[in-house]
Amino acid sequence: PSSKPKPWVIGNWKMNPETPMAQQQLTQQLIDQIIHDPASDMGATTLNLAVAPTFLHLLMVQQQLQQAKSPVQVVAQDVSRFAGTGAYTGDVSAQLLASAGITITLIGHSERRSLYAEGAVVLREKLQAAVKAGLDIVFCIGETLSEREAGQAEQVVLQQIAEVFDSVSLQDWQQHLIIAYEPVWAIGTGKTASPDDAESMHAAIRTGLKKYHPSLVDVPILYGGSVKPDNAASLAACANINGALVGGASLDAGSFIKIAQAF
Ligand code: PGA
Repeated sequence: PSSKPKPWVIGNWKMNPETPMAQQQLTQQLIDQIIHDPASDMGATTLNLAVAPTFLHLLMVQQQLQQAKSPVQVVAQDVSRFAGTGAYTGDVSAQLLASAGITITLIGHSERRSLYAEGAVVLREKLQAAVKAGLDIVFCIGETLSEREAGQAEQVVLQQIAEVFDSVSLQDWQQHLIIAYEPVWAIGTGKTASPDDAESMHAAIRTGLKKYHPSLVDVPILYGGSVKPDNAASLAACANINGALVGGASLDAGSFIKIAQAF
């Protein structure tokens, strides 16, 4: 890569924690830990730091962070495939998010792909809805264990990019897309890809993106899947790893901050 893009460390809280009070406590712990660590410059100039609470808690957490002047941003975990407003019971559109000051969303997390059968058609629509609303997007890709064991990991991951690539413009890729490589077998399992395996996949993804257009060399590529304080530094040291998408460990503020410090 030409230069390492500014790293992202994003905590994916998924459907956790259980109560509004627990959401506020976790948020407050992040605020306190960052304030009490003046040596770090987290979230300001050298790192993009963010958390993704549920839709129910997104604005509450955002307000709490903003009132504390915290550099931590909030990220939506998903968006509707439908743009704008309208009769889509249960959905939250990218436009609604944008109008509430949410500027970034995950799309295509492996849990959405596997538990809600989201495939290329839906993901293309979600990408389009998100860019139309001006959101930044963390687009998640990753192979299953059987695909890896069959030697198809790289092919699967590149295909997950190929099948959505032309749903948005090259300019959107340059300005609004972040990739998160999350091997499915590493998510929530405590098994992380080794730094070598992760780095080789990230390099393959970067090469793949460059083939679409040389400028895409700068698309940030995050790693996700059992990132913990004790493996974050070795992942962060890899040339093509530009941050982390952290699930389980992001529910503990101290662990999350330690991971952030590694990047
Ligand atoms: P994990 O989750 O860190 O708990 O493995 C990562 C993710 O699903 O984004």
